[in-house]
Amino acid sequence: DEQRRLIVVSNRLPVSVKRVDGGYQSSISSGGLVTALSGLKSTKFQWFGWPGIEVKDTADREQVSQSLEEHSACPIFLNSDLAHEHYNGFSNRILWPILHYQSGVTFDDGPWQAYRRVNELFADQIANAADSGNLIWIHDYHLMLLPGLLRSRLEQQGKSCAIGFSLHTPFPAGDFWRALPVRKQLIDGLLASDLIGFHTDEYKQNFIDTCSNLLGAHTEIPNQIQYKNRLVCIGKFIVGIDPQKFTDTLKAPEVVERIKTLEERYKGMTVIVGVDRLDHIKGLTQKLKGFDSFLDDHPELRNKVVLIQVAVPSREDVKEYQELETELTTPDGTPLLYMHRSVPFNELAALYAIADACLLTSTRDGMNLVSFEYVACQEKRNGVLILSEFAGAASFMREGSICFHPANKTEMSEAIFKALNLDPAERKRKFEQLREFVHKYTSSQWGQTFLEKLNARVGDKATRN
Ligand code: UDP
Repeated sequence: DEQRRLIVVSNRLPVSVKRVDGGYQSSISSGGLVTALSGLKSTKFQWFGWPGIEVKDTADREQVSQSLEEHSACPIFLNSDLAHEHYNGFSNRILWPILHYQSGVTFDDGPWQAYRRVNELFADQIANAADSGNLIWIHDYHLMLLPGLLRSRLEQQGKSCAIGFSLHTPFPAGDFWRALPVRKQLIDGLLASDLIGFHTDEYKQNFIDTCSNLLGAHTEIPNQIQYKNRLVCIGKFIVGIDPQKFTDTLKAPEVVERIKTLEERYKGMTVIVGVDRLDHIKGLTQKLKGFDSFLDDHPELRNKVVLIQVAVPSREDVKEYQELETELTTPDGTPLLYMHRSVPFNELAALYAIADACLLTSTRDGMNLVSFEYVACQEKRNGVLILSEFAGAASFMREGSICFHPANKTEMSEAIFKALNLDPAERKRKFEQLREFVHKYTSSQWGQTFLEKLNARVGDKATRN
């Protein structure tokens, strides 16, 4: 196969840009997508997205672009008000809740216009940069209009590219999606893609049903949608992590030392760990209630079990997220270490490693990679994953974990009790299932599978024309 150029698009570039001594310096950050692509050594790629800072001056923009070039990144400059309205106003305050089955959302035209505008600005710049035959891989709910806007610009310029889209959130059942006044425009935009990927079969099927019910698209052939004389392939692609990165980190001398210290501190106790962004969908309120209820049900365990909860600050300029921090009340006397901050990677790995169980209580969650990361750090201890049935990960890890309904505190309490009392053989059996899954479905496997499928669509088109 000839090597095709790959263009990756996400709202934010995975690079942070800083002003240093009158110039600009940029450094790449980690993340699932970065890992997935770094595994694809043979593919040349270029990354488009917002650089995260406002740069007004033309000469400054030139400097930023140059400093990003060494990371194959290409900035799409936005003024901060527009970026804020697009990201917080529409994407996070309106779209995110609907995608996660949270009701009570009020639609506003202002944020919607900002969302459209940003998608147009992305389309203008990417269409100009693309060449015929390129693969274009667009990511996530911030850019749902982009496939359509990009497709029409490319056609105007006589260019033919394969466009792929991956959604990293759930796609809700039809009636939820219908609550959004611009429900049709967004789906119409997405359906200009050649390939659309979802995390689970459930999200995929919800999307297919919506296309059929809302737009009258033809969906009789499995995994295909026919709409406006176009064929769109739909698939489930399991996103994972790079487990090796965790295994290596756990061997580093300072991490080994840290694990020893923590094990000493919690000697004779059972440690349960939780790591979540401070977001309503993570069910933190439910987690604290459920854990409290578990301690009420088993008073004899009160001094023997501790919950270490990392709550990573998130979207702090959105009102609903500020309120969540104040809503979260920790029940009096609960053995809980609550950390409202992010933790460095080494510390995170050490926390995962010393925990006898990991408790994740999402009310809805696209996949939840924390569950994978916990498993990757449990070679020695073979700890138990206690997982909400509403995390995307639960559709693959049900057998290997203990699943429960996050809003049912009795079920949560029972799940915790069961996890802490599994007989050793059962515990090992469950862990081995999870380990096999996490090592099979890695982020690089994900990237490779999606791109192979997208590449095949280029072939499809050539045959049809
Ligand atoms: N994480 C982080 N900072 C921290 C603790 C964790 O960035 O202080 C990482 C964590 O390792 C994981 C990611 O945040 O890779 C969370 O991903 P997940 O899919 O679980 O949920 P999301 O935050 O994307 O909804």
